Amino acid sequence: MSEETQGGAQGGGCLFCKIISGEIPSKKVYEDENVFAFLDINPRNPGHTLVIPKKHYVTLLDMPAKEVGHLFESARMVAEAVKGGANADGLSLIQSNGKAAGQLVTHVHVHLIPRFMSEGPISLEGVLSVKKMPEDTLDKFVAAIKEKIGSAKEPGETKFDF
Ligand code: 5GP
Ligand code: ZN
Repeated sequence: MSEETQGGAQGGGCLFCKIISGEIPSKKVYEDENVFAFLDINPRNPGHTLVIPKKHYVTLLDMPAKEVGHLFESARMVAEAVKGGANADGLSLIQSNGKAAGQLVTHVHVHLIPRFMSEGPISLEGVLSVKKMPEDTLDKFVAAIKEKIGSAKEPGETKFDF
């Protein structure tokens, strides 16, 4: 669990939980049993939409893998509609976890942002600069990540219970 996981049973005091319950109004575009999607109040582009799980989790890493699966299946479906509805040329899907990643609202959310050729494409390089790293540093990261995943597993296998 994230250290920021707070807010009671359904995230009492959480802004996005209040949006789900209707206590705070929003421009809803989609809702099902598990997810809620609505327009961002400060759109970075027309049609900027947020997709959130109805159950309160602070970050994606607090969620069971199965629920992440449902969230992203829904985000993919809504993304197609957002891109089409905004008549956009592309779409950025941004999902930030923790303060260091710029997460301001502590209820998991997926940003769906329509993108237009006219705005001048901004790639990841426009957001985070490239860091050159020596081969042995890269190898250390491979080892550390593999250890966390469980290096006995074959590629493609997961330890998640789908
Ligand atoms: P973050 O910076 O945490 O990734 O994104 C949070 C997003 O929530 C921001 O883009 C912000 O504009 C949006 N937001 C914050 N408060 C509200 C609100 O009350 N209603 C809606 N619809 N969006 C909100
Ligand atoms: Zn919440």
